[in-house]
Amino acid sequence: MKAEVTSAMAQIKFSTMMKEKQLLSFELFPPKTDKGMENLPVTIEHLCEFRPEYISCTYGAGGANVGRNMDVCKMIQNAGTIPVTHFTCIGNTREGIRDQLKMYLDHGIDHMLALRGDLPFGWTGTGGDFKYATDLVAFVRKEFGDKFEIAVGGSPEGHIASRSFETDIAVLKQKQDNGADYVMTQLCWDMEQFKRWLDAIRKAGVTLPVDVGVMPILDEAATINMALSRNACVMPRELCKIISKNWIFPNPFEKDPFDVAAEQKRADFKKAGMEYTIRQIDEYRALGVNGIHLYVLNKWKDVTEIINESGIRTIV
Ligand code: FAD
Repeated sequence: MKAEVTSAMAQIKFSTMMKEKQLLSFELFPPKTDKGMENLPVTIEHLCEFRPEYISCTYGAGGANVGRNMDVCKMIQNAGTIPVTHFTCIGNTREGIRDQLKMYLDHGIDHMLALRGDLPFGWTGTGGDFKYATDLVAFVRKEFGDKFEIAVGGSPEGHIASRSFETDIAVLKQKQDNGADYVMTQLCWDMEQFKRWLDAIRKAGVTLPVDVGVMPILDEAATINMALSRNACVMPRELCKIISKNWIFPNPFEKDPFDVAAEQKRADFKKAGMEYTIRQIDEYRALGVNGIHLYVLNKWKDVTEIINESGIRTIV
């Protein structure tokens, strides 16, 4: 049954499905430890109860690092769901990319998210043959034809390194012209920013379906970290209020805080953060986006609560 699922599902195009209905998908990362890898199938099993259309798996920077990513993709297949592998240009040569992607195809993995990748600290370029995701998309189409369905990254607030918002949108249009099938977005907690971007990309001729990346707000330090350590992500007043009201003294990054109410504040932050996430999902759905892609952070229990409360699978 499981082998059948893999081969039968290989032809599925999410970009086509997204024209008919709003999809639900999840994102996992390969755990660093063996214990984490051992526990992951249970997480995947729980996530599959929500019948996601696919589960994607991140790909670490550094090149030729299929390793655990491939193992996680196989776990997703074994659970009867379609894996989408993330794939980056970092440290990857043309030949390396060809070989790795052939290996994915040999394992029945034919959905990918084509990215440039985050540059490791101190690097000024990708250290590989391709500079941008646009080059990777063009290469995959040329080498593999339609064998892969290709998603590409989109940044509703504009990518941090882009010259301008408009340039970044032109880059997205180029990804479409080079053969991308749909867009998966970077986290964005500000609905006004998102609406402005959606409007702008449509005006610029980007017609690809948009699968919205939703980053759940669960932990104070992690939220600040995700917003500011890489993406310069806007935190709207409402989110800032949740952070301020539950501020753990001296700061949320302190491992051993002197704040006697730290535990209560963590719980209160998580509750308010989940409510914020659920409201955001409601708004995205009301906007008619083509899919909700939940960054699971490998935490199935929290995601279960968010899905049940938001009614993604029950309220049409
Ligand atoms: P690109 O689209 O190539 O853009 C990078 C920058 O270059 C932008 O500023 C863009 O405006 C500019 N640019 C692009 N093309 C041109 C051009 N032709 N001329 C001039 N400027 C140009 N990273 C990982 O390492 N592993 C992951 O698994 C991973 N998963 C992700 C999942 C999602 C849904 C998203 C949205 C991002 C993910 N990332 C991941 C992060 C991603 O790698 C970073 O955002 C990275 O910094 C940029 O990748 P990109 O594909 O958007 O790059």
